[in-house]
Amino acid sequence: MSRRAAPRRVTMADRAAMAGREHSGVDLELAHAEALVVPQVDPAAARAEAAAAERVVRRRVAGAAEQRELLAMLGLRSADPAPPAPPRPIAHGTHRGYVAHQRRGEAACGECRAAHSAYTADRHRLTRVRRREARDA
Ligand SMILES: [Zn+2]
Repeated sequence: MSRRAAPRRVTMADRAAMAGREHSGVDLELAHAEALVVPQVDPAAARAEAAAAERVVRRRVAGAAEQRELLAMLGLRSADPAPPAPPRPIAHGTHRGYVAHQRRGEAACGECRAAHSAYTADRHRLTRVRRREARDA
C-alpha cells in the first residue's frame, strides 16, 4: 500500500527547507526545527516560538548576513542590517574620555591625558593610604 502525503499548507518549515537549498549552512534538520514557528493566536506563545526559532538559526547558521537573510525569510527579522550606532561623543577631559580614545585606537587628546594622569595619581594615592591603614590597624 503506497502512502501519499496529504496536501497541506506551506509551513515555516517548508520555507526554511526551501531557503536551505540556497543556504549552505541550513539543512533539513533546521527546517524541522523551524516547524516551531506556526501561526499562534496567543501573542506570547508566538513570541516564544519566534524566539526559539531565532535561537536555532543563530546556533546553526554561520555568518551574520546569512542569519539575517534566513530570519527575514522566516518573517522574523528585517533583511536590512541594523544601521551601525553612531559613535558616542567623547567626554574630553575625563578619565572616561581617555578610555574612549584608547578604545578607538587613537591617541588621547591633551585634556584626556591630563585627566587620566590625575585619575591614576589619585588611585595610587588611595592605594598608599589603604596600605598604610591596613598596616597601622
Ligand atoms: Zn579627549
